[in-house]
Amino acid sequence: MILPRLLIPVETAAAETRVAVSPETIKKFIGLGCSVAIEQGAGASAGFVDSSYAEAGAELVAVGDAQAWGQADLLLCVQTPQQQALAKLRNGALVVGLLSPYSNESLTTSLKNCGLSAMALELLPRISRAQSADALSSQANIAGYKAVLLGAAALDRYFPMLMTAAGTVQPAKVVILGAGVAGLQAVATARRLGAVVFVSDIRPAVKEQVESLGARFIEPPEMDDKPAESGGYAKQASEAFLAAQRQQLSDQLAEADVAICTAQVPGRRAPRLISDDMLDRMRPGSVVVDLAVAQGGNCADTQPSQTVDRKGVKLIGANDLPCSVPNHASALYARNLLALLEPMFKDGQFSLDTEDELIAGCLIAQDGSIRRGDVLTPGAN
Ligand code: NAD
Repeated sequence: MILPRLLIPVETAAAETRVAVSPETIKKFIGLGCSVAIEQGAGASAGFVDSSYAEAGAELVAVGDAQAWGQADLLLCVQTPQQQALAKLRNGALVVGLLSPYSNESLTTSLKNCGLSAMALELLPRISRAQSADALSSQANIAGYKAVLLGAAALDRYFPMLMTAAGTVQPAKVVILGAGVAGLQAVATARRLGAVVFVSDIRPAVKEQVESLGARFIEPPEMDDKPAESGGYAKQASEAFLAAQRQQLSDQLAEADVAICTAQVPGRRAPRLISDDMLDRMRPGSVVVDLAVAQGGNCADTQPSQTVDRKGVKLIGANDLPCSVPNHASALYARNLLALLEPMFKDGQFSLDTEDELIAGCLIAQDGSIRRGDVLTPGAN
């Protein structure tokens, strides 16, 4: 492909406030020789006005403009556009975004029927060379930070220890389940606010990271069928292991003020770590923030995008936290996309080296043929 024409759409998924480019990254793409079209208003909810994109050199086009979609070589999005929008793209166009490959049923059909190529950022291998392009990390960091702020705002107590004329206030106790990117950021944020923090994870490597942030690590249950680990990710735990883990966590949670749930296993239902019985033992006024709610939830009774009052315990279903910090979430996501695509521009050409580990990992389809059938939901047709 000679230098590509980029199109950035208005995001259409419910509650999505982010955009895939910033004026800064548009300038860089133009510097690489691309031409850039962006739909009017695409950055409005992220705080990027149309004129800032125009000043950076982008051409503003009407939303859904068939000609602009038909001319695009590269569609940079946050979430998967609707099927009828994808159908406007030409054969061989490349779609890059957080395409939810594990749960996006219509995606396979669209990619095949429209002859599209696609890169799902969720599948980018977690290797050091990929760090600057790692959108899961940039967004999970935001989610971990915001989860603690939501928990602190909903709590009926202070976070820090305070010595006042009216007496001493003990610090809040925060229990964090899962110490991946979101969990570690939650630890750091809760510590900055002065809470005492306890962390549970099943990957042994996490212990040192947690302790270096000033939190205490809850050792996983000693059992023969401990869940395995691959590529830095936990594998699915057995039901017996999870039952032992719940029993172990029950006493910790009974004393907790806030629980932040971030435990996930890629492509699987999130492990259920807080049961109804455990919630019954929590103090009225305490708070659970469940970041895994869209994957089935770490906690019983949490509902996506809702706060449920369960016998005085507030259960916050926090599935779209990066969308609540849209300016920084977009700016970082935009840099992730630039870092991913920049190496593909060489000698005045844009090309996909499918032998490259990074590209091979996340290129789910090429010109309509499915390359990651192991991951994609088998769509109709
Ligand atoms: P994730 O969102 O898939 O999972 C979050 C955490 O939940 C993980 O730490 C996992 O071990 C934990 N978990 C799973 N089951 C659990 C259970 N039953 N109880 C308690 N905890 C449980 O993970 P993530 O945040 O995407 O990060 C996964 C790994 O990738 C981490 O090791 C991270 O350091 C690594 N990583 C590497 C790079 C890179 O090198 N490019 C970038 C980002 C992250």
